[in-house]
Amino acid sequence: MRSRIIASKPSLLHPVTGAAVLFVICLTVSSAAAEPGLVARPSHLGAHLGSPPDELLQCLAVPDTPIHKGYMPLQETCIIQALKQAGLRQRILKVAVAEAVGVRMGLIKLQASDTASGCFRVSDLEADAVAALSAAFDVMPELEHLDLWSVVPGDMASYGQIHQPVFSVAAARADFERLSSTDLPARQLLGKLGAVRYAPLFLSNAADDPMRLACLDNPFPRTAYRAPNAADNWARFAGLAQEGNTETEEPSCVRVLRRGRTDQRNVAITIDDGPHPLIIPLMLAVLDHYDVKATFFVVGHKAEQYPGLVREIAQAGHELGNHTYWHRRMSELPLEEARAELRSCSAVVGALTGQQMYFIRPPGGDYSEASLQAIAESGLTVALWTHNTGDWRKVSPRQIADRALAGIEPGAIILMHDGDLSSVRALKLIIEGLLERNLQPVCLSEIAGNGAAREMSVQAMMNYLDSGWQPAELR
Ligand SMILES: [Zn+2]
Repeated sequence: MRSRIIASKPSLLHPVTGAAVLFVICLTVSSAAAEPGLVARPSHLGAHLGSPPDELLQCLAVPDTPIHKGYMPLQETCIIQALKQAGLRQRILKVAVAEAVGVRMGLIKLQASDTASGCFRVSDLEADAVAALSAAFDVMPELEHLDLWSVVPGDMASYGQIHQPVFSVAAARADFERLSSTDLPARQLLGKLGAVRYAPLFLSNAADDPMRLACLDNPFPRTAYRAPNAADNWARFAGLAQEGNTETEEPSCVRVLRRGRTDQRNVAITIDDGPHPLIIPLMLAVLDHYDVKATFFVVGHKAEQYPGLVREIAQAGHELGNHTYWHRRMSELPLEEARAELRSCSAVVGALTGQQMYFIRPPGGDYSEASLQAIAESGLTVALWTHNTGDWRKVSPRQIADRALAGIEPGAIILMHDGDLSSVRALKLIIEGLLERNLQPVCLSEIAGNGAAREMSVQAMMNYLDSGWQPAELR
């Protein structure tokens, strides 16, 4: 096979989160290079196991694309060394280790294939996952939780992402050690961990792989969540949303929570844009440490990527809210697309947790008459905020906490995001600051009663946007 590098960009801004993404590998393979007897797919993983093409190695050697994330560089390097010694079949893309409230967690990202359409073996990903978890837990006794995912380069046009996870597993040390002592085959072991995901892309890319039959003959773990195909799912809901709705109805009333009830000393903490595979577990540890609950506004397509985390949030007793499926600015969406955004996100979270969501936070707090109409039909309550921490601007945890706590009073709604470690540290400071002021952090539902959530006409909401409400910059 002959390979040709077409682009190598060491740093991009993620189109959805705005977070810096430090790796992207764009590699294409000459289509005329298929040899007789080989799978005529670009870059079969098996074709370069143990000997990556020189061009790819050069691409990966770009100095600005370190494997370690830099949160805890020494610990991250230590795990990278252990992974290298474990002889993984996949390439190591990123390792992150971080700590909050004395709990240390890690993230390992591997690359399953050079291209979005490349093939990979089911058994390779599973064996790598077990080997990598084992190596990392062994080398770092303080590590309590690991998220591991395998990705392929993403389809920017369809998914707006520079990588697309095809497999992920979340593992707590105690569970992993108990299961790995039982000599279970990799697939069964991962299945029992309970948070394994095989993406639709994974299944379709495995189609031409000799392992496909084995994969089909050997059913996936029952605990594995097979996500609906993201694009198909969205298109299906867009179709459903249009059915019988060719005539636009008169704008109706929408239920809105701008600030919570003030007769109790409660404040709601809301965390948008997740779930992030490292930041969310750390935030859950912080919330658990103080025994407080929060509301997580999740993005539908990310929830599909990290089903285990969505379940973890729900099982810990926190509230989940709708933050649309693709995180697009709702004021720019026609009615049908706004409906599809809402329904798709609700469908994913409902399938994962069995729970219905009650709140919608439009990305950036921005809306239009059409999107309010879609929200009114959905029965969701719009949740705005009183305190925007601006935590996505990469400011210090103290600055984030100061903005959250400035002029704070009962019924306030604090807006945070799960994009960076500074938000985790700020969350700790915010909770401590609230408790010092004799204010109790709660989830949104707890402050919406006593008339706090109000019916407003679409026109009144538009006037509110014009006169006072300042949507945030979309991140
Ligand atoms: Zn958002």
